[in-house]
Amino acid sequence: MKPSPWQFSIARIPAAGLDLSLVLDEAWFLTWRAQDPGLEIAGPSQVKAEVRVAKHGRELLIRGRLRGTLTLACCRCLTPYVAPIETDFDLLLAPGPEPLKAGEEELTAAELDQDFYAGDTLDLEPILREQIVLQLPVKPLCAEACRGLCARCGANLNTEPCTCAKERSASPFASGAN
Ligand SMILES: [Zn+2]
Ligand SMILES: [Zn+2]
Repeated sequence: MKPSPWQFSIARIPAAGLDLSLVLDEAWFLTWRAQDPGLEIAGPSQVKAEVRVAKHGRELLIRGRLRGTLTLACCRCLTPYVAPIETDFDLLLAPGPEPLKAGEEELTAAELDQDFYAGDTLDLEPILREQIVLQLPVKPLCAEACRGLCARCGANLNTEPCTCAKERSASPFASGAN
């Protein structure tokens, strides 16, 4: 495997800490999407990540700041739109646990709740991906007032009139978008 630019040897992180300025560019998002087809990022996205890694004994404190834009698909009209991402995070990673071998006990709930790094390498890629996923809206909307698609003819009601409109408004069951 090629060495990843997101992986750092923990032994080589200086005592004063490591400051990183990373750009998660379109290629980075494309790779992610190829590996995770369910990822809800619908087009060109770019995020700048400022990350500080500091050692606290055997634990690693990761402080990060993400700023950029993501292309998401509106859940009502399905049209891609650009949304800003702006988040700061703090994570404390503990060493281990080693991968389970046959016959070993399963992890306790408390252990599962904790974030870990494995071996002597810190891999920032899954950490950055997780922080971005945490910022994705459950119901992405291009605008609060998005009118969505006509359930009958599929017209995008934000941009085109729909010929079913009369029947729709005549129905006592006609509801708003979504
Ligand atoms: Zn929309
Ligand atoms: Zn229609």
